[in-house]
Amino acid sequence: MPGKEEFVVTPYEVKGRIDYERLREQFGTQPVTPELLAKLHHIAGGELPPALARGIYYSHRDLPALLDGFAHGNPFFLYSGRGPSGPLHTSHLLQFQLCQWFQKRLGVPMYIQITDDEKFWSSKTGIAREETVHWGLENLTDILALGFDPKRTHTFFDSRSIAAMYPLAVRIARKVPYSTVKAVFGFTPSTNIGLVFYTALQTVPAFWPSWAEGRPVPCLIPCGIDQDPHFRITRDMAESFGYPKPALLHSQMVPGLLGESVMSTTGDRADNALFLDDPPEAVERKVRNAFTGGRATVEEQRRLGATPEICSVWALWRTQFAESDAKFAEVTAGCRSGTLLCGECKSQLLERVGKFYAAHRVARAKAKEWAESTIVTRAPRDL
Ligand code: SF4
Repeated sequence: MPGKEEFVVTPYEVKGRIDYERLREQFGTQPVTPELLAKLHHIAGGELPPALARGIYYSHRDLPALLDGFAHGNPFFLYSGRGPSGPLHTSHLLQFQLCQWFQKRLGVPMYIQITDDEKFWSSKTGIAREETVHWGLENLTDILALGFDPKRTHTFFDSRSIAAMYPLAVRIARKVPYSTVKAVFGFTPSTNIGLVFYTALQTVPAFWPSWAEGRPVPCLIPCGIDQDPHFRITRDMAESFGYPKPALLHSQMVPGLLGESVMSTTGDRADNALFLDDPPEAVERKVRNAFTGGRATVEEQRRLGATPEICSVWALWRTQFAESDAKFAEVTAGCRSGTLLCGECKSQLLERVGKFYAAHRVARAKAKEWAESTIVTRAPRDL
């Protein structure tokens, strides 16, 4: 195990307590500054979403240039994806909620990639093909239910969109030497060849509108900071096609309910997250048992206050469930001062989580009717 100061962050492994500023410097990305947030606020109008206002998206590549271009009449599109291996949990929604906010505010198109092939190739547990396909459609429905516009949202469901993707994928694959993907992803002689080719498929959505429209169309990819190496390859080859380098907006990792700084839900870790198909009693149990930054006794907590930064319940308030920055500030101040106790804090959170699940169920039923219609099946031109 890494020591206190050590951490590992790659697209396939995250461990240790991450020093996010150090990681940003290692990756050579730019910080999301108050000036950049003010620019975004000015262009988008209205309040920023929690993920931006509360510092969860903290790093970027080339975001100011993308926003300046938008302000001068050059719209961009959004690209984000999901590797389907099971039900989504609330933290999976973070990047899509941010994309939905961008789409709603700026009217930009959204491209979603469902990587049912990659999940099958990379699974350490031997997941069946049928399962990745099944969960692909289920996950897509949950994502679309966040409020995406059916007319402006397009899905690359890899195994079902392959005929459309392949003409661009072959062009991309030709430009990626094996030595590059080996160095970035740490492939070994036993890595299956599906994963080697997958880099080309993951790049397709980032270039698709430029390819389809025959002109450079800027792209914004919100992603976890651990995914930055994937997209460095995409950025490195963009100019050789005459396309803009995709801008990136990176988030910190969301901690699990059981207290680890990075969430894992495999094996016996199902209580580490709130899954969208959890029944209300499971949600209640998970939140009630969640790791907190509280003190050993009520008396101590009232006297000394608690520590929100290490609390998984506070992380839920911060990322998604505090409906306003004022409510988030109230919870944080109450926690620090000891006027808010963990039991009451969890009850207030559960009320909001319950409302979210109820609204999501309704939205999901509607999205199910049109989810399939977003799947891209035709290339803009042949071969
Ligand atoms: S009061 Fe709330 S935020 Fe603070 S430690 Fe307890 S559960 Fe966490």
